[in-house]
Amino acid sequence: MLVDSHCHLIGSYPAEDGAEAVLARARLAGVAGFIAVATDLADARLVLALAARNQDVQASLGVHPHEAASWTPEVAAQLEALLRDPNARFVGETGLDWHYDLSPRDAQEAVFREHIRMARRLAKPVMVHTRAAPQETLRVLREEGADQVGGIIHCFSEDRQFAGLALDLGFHLSFSGIVTFRNAEPIRDVAAWAPEDRILVETDSPFLAPVPFRGKPNEPAYVTYVAAQVAQLRHLAPERLAEITTRNLEALCGWPPSA
Ligand SMILES: [Zn+2]
Repeated sequence: MLVDSHCHLIGSYPAEDGAEAVLARARLAGVAGFIAVATDLADARLVLALAARNQDVQASLGVHPHEAASWTPEVAAQLEALLRDPNARFVGETGLDWHYDLSPRDAQEAVFREHIRMARRLAKPVMVHTRAAPQETLRVLREEGADQVGGIIHCFSEDRQFAGLALDLGFHLSFSGIVTFRNAEPIRDVAAWAPEDRILVETDSPFLAPVPFRGKPNEPAYVTYVAAQVAQLRHLAPERLAEITTRNLEALCGWPPSA
């Protein structure tokens, strides 16, 4: 049983080939669970509706760092209300993206802190996005006591040192299609080395399709390629890697239930 720990299913695919068709293809490929991630409030409502219709889909709800400038107290209140839904398993994605800088950095940091506080109030783990701000991300996680709830460093693309510090804070590392990219040796190194009880796999669909689909739209069916690569790096059978990562997700967020 393989689970995609992070995918974007709302608005990612053309209407005639929407989320339901993408999910159907993934199920045929053997993918049994999906954490669908919202990046703003409108997305959050649609992700929750998708989870209500599909029992193999659960939700991660937040306002993406790219959208941090849109944060208001009203958005915060509505997000927190939606996060009380039992199908909402994670708070986020949230974090810092100082590569694209689509929202001001101080707004990104303030909104990241608010997500962590919300996660602590709700006792749910945090879905973290970090790009080009490794030390700052770790500092905010530490200062806000994120170790009390833990969470996922999604689409892991940092080095061993960052990984060690994130693991110390109780976080899990989720590997994406990047592990199949030619120039990703440092990330493969972390995927081979990380503790077995802290690794996850994801697609981050519709972005970052693994080899041999690189550059094309990604979809959750392709998490099988990510899992195969991580399994090979760790000298494990793909079925075993699927078992491990699914169990790790359950330990973190209580889902999916063990058979
Ligand atoms: Zn994402």
